[in-house]
Amino acid sequence: MEKVDIAIAGGGPAGLTLAKNLAEAGVSFVLLEDHKDFFQKPCGEGLCRVAHGVNMIELHGSKAGFENEIESCTIYINQEPLKTLEWSGYTLDKQAFEKDMYRQAVKSGGDMRLGQKIEAFEKTADGILIKPQGIKCKCLVGCDGTFSKARGFFGQKIEGMVFAVAAYEQKKGKDTDLKLYLGKGIVDRGYAWRFPKKSTYNVGVGSTMKEAVMPSYERLFKAKGPRGAFIPYGLPCKTYFDSGILIGDAAGQADSLTGGGIDYSMIASKLAAGVLIKLAKSGKPFSEENLREYEKLWRKAIYKPIRNDYILGKLLLASGIYKHELLVRKLSGVLDVAGNAFKKL
Ligand SMILES: Cc1cc2nc3c(=O)[nH]c(=O)nc-3n(C[C@H](O)[C@H](O)[C@H](O)COP(=O)(O)OP(=O)(O)OC[C@H]3O[C@@H](n4cnc5c(N)ncnc54)[C@H](O)[C@@H]3O)c2cc1C
Repeated sequence: MEKVDIAIAGGGPAGLTLAKNLAEAGVSFVLLEDHKDFFQKPCGEGLCRVAHGVNMIELHGSKAGFENEIESCTIYINQEPLKTLEWSGYTLDKQAFEKDMYRQAVKSGGDMRLGQKIEAFEKTADGILIKPQGIKCKCLVGCDGTFSKARGFFGQKIEGMVFAVAAYEQKKGKDTDLKLYLGKGIVDRGYAWRFPKKSTYNVGVGSTMKEAVMPSYERLFKAKGPRGAFIPYGLPCKTYFDSGILIGDAAGQADSLTGGGIDYSMIASKLAAGVLIKLAKSGKPFSEENLREYEKLWRKAIYKPIRNDYILGKLLLASGIYKHELLVRKLSGVLDVAGNAFKKL
């Protein structure tokens, strides 16, 4: 039987960030990813330049996949423009973005195995057995997305899910403005987007009401064959256990209001890497007590915005009332105002 210290389940932004950081620190691990290629899951491909104090190009480690620089964001209510805000970020070529993280991890000696679907986990006396691969690890890192098997294995649940579909429309001319469409006339309990890439628009619709998504998409956009996937909705679950942790969508570290999660998953992964590197190098066990440090760190770094957007989402979307001013403040980054309001609730 193959034995490793650390096994990473899943090679999306969370798993790839962790792999790259462990490899660069000379910590051995194995990453198991179901697909043989990258970007199998649809995505809006929007990413802030600086997310929660972290420069995303620096965290990624290269400019590969950062396709179009974005300068503003316009909010529409039922097709009527409400406000244009300054917004600094990028639209990604997510396949190139993920491929390059893979390249960086491999370059530093990471053991990255594609086309490896994990079917089950089994607790053993001194770690976890991964099936059918037959790999025994001392620490399992669940980066296996919204329907995480690792999360179930560690006995955790998330509140619900957002369903979202995305496709590409032809783009004319130069455009550096993200467009967000809200309102009852767009989709119930969600929003639609048109994000400018280099030569196309990434267009899509997401909502906690799955059945509302496709009718809305077909009303708003012409591009055929949109692909759909789920995003975790709710607050993150517990993420540290005896012999394992959870990161990214697997942990519910996604934004219930915007549906964004690339930044959270990568930031949490970088913090997890620090904890795992310390334990691996000191030879200390991957015990629940020692792994608790990871949860402390990510809660300090990203829990507040996740929680605030979850509450704001409930206020704005679940109630069906669109408080435009609150939303505009949130999207302009003036979260404090909303944050203070929450404390009074
Ligand atoms: C339509 C849509 C639009 C979105 N738009 C944006 C956006 O514009 N900006 C943004 O920041 N976020 C967006 N998100 C959210 C973002 O995609 C996720 O939050 C982010 O990808 C989370 O990264 P992750 O690595 O945790 O999970 P994932 O990216 O889901 O990666 C999980 C990986 O685990 C693998 N895996 C799963 N099960 C197994 C298994 N049993 N064995 C082996 N491997 C397995 C999967 O193949 C996958 O590669 C969007 C999501 C959707 C669905």
